[in-house]
Amino acid sequence: MKTRVDHRLRSEAARFAFRFACDDCAHFEPDGGRCSLEYPAAPRRGALATDAADVELCKAFELT
Ligand code: SF4
Repeated sequence: MKTRVDHRLRSEAARFAFRFACDDCAHFEPDGGRCSLEYPAAPRRGALATDAADVELCKAFELT
């Protein structure tokens, strides 16, 4: 799901400790940096800290 990244999203993500990255997902294999479902492992932590205009959130994300 493509989501626009703007000041409000960055601010609220920091304020509410928004978890959305593979790094916080039950399907992420940190040793190899891979997704166990074999999706491209993205977005990664720090994705909101870039100049990107949007971020693609994974619908299979499961919080660990
Ligand atoms: S299921 Fe989605 S969010 Fe979870 S590790 Fe795989 S690609 Fe990342």
